[in-house]
Amino acid sequence: MAHRLLRDAEADGWERSDFPIICESCLGDNPYVRMTRALYDKECKICQRPFTVFRWRPGRDARYKKTEICQTCCKLKNVCQVCLLDLEYGLPVQVRDTALSINSNDTIPKSDVNREYFAEEHDRRARAGLDYESSYGKVQSNDTILKLQRTTPYYKRNRAHVCSFYIRGECTRGAECPYRHEMPVTGELSQQNIKDRYYGYVRCT
Ligand SMILES: [Zn+2]
Ligand SMILES: [Zn+2]
Ligand SMILES: [Zn+2]
Repeated sequence: MAHRLLRDAEADGWERSDFPIICESCLGDNPYVRMTRALYDKECKICQRPFTVFRWRPGRDARYKKTEICQTCCKLKNVCQVCLLDLEYGLPVQVRDTALSINSNDTIPKSDVNREYFAEEHDRRARAGLDYESSYGKVQSNDTILKLQRTTPYYKRNRAHVCSFYIRGECTRGAECPYRHEMPVTGELSQQNIKDRYYGYVRCT
């Protein structure tokens, strides 16, 4: 009976995972990091299906992190569930795709409805043990990507956000302030939203 219930619960196709799929930088430098896990807490920012959200603090000076996209979407692109950088090379999607001469968006539908269906179909095939060809697939590395890749974790990225009040000279919280008191570093990629990071779009303004 319990078995049947479990199978029925799986029929909705929603994700239940015990550990997030994340890069070393997002995990942080503490091997005993404690994570909280909330089943179907949020919708995946890509396919919009409910998924298991993990939350943790990757270091003493770090801000809390949580998984933003589901594991199906993360596997289709081979990216971290938090920062959406490539899991193997630590690079943004567009940089990886260009270096490897691939287009990892080829088979992923753009419309929300199709994307949801596509993710469900992918899960069904994976559960049935079918080998699913994702557009990312197993691509051979080359000199370009080996030169670009990040080989060590980048923990600085986990630090708290810069305090926007501090920049305007209006923060009164001093050392109690949970945000960082320094001037922001601007850059093209600091403007990229989650969907753009996922598809590797850089908007020209
Ligand atoms: Zn998803
Ligand atoms: Zn990451
Ligand atoms: Zn502040």
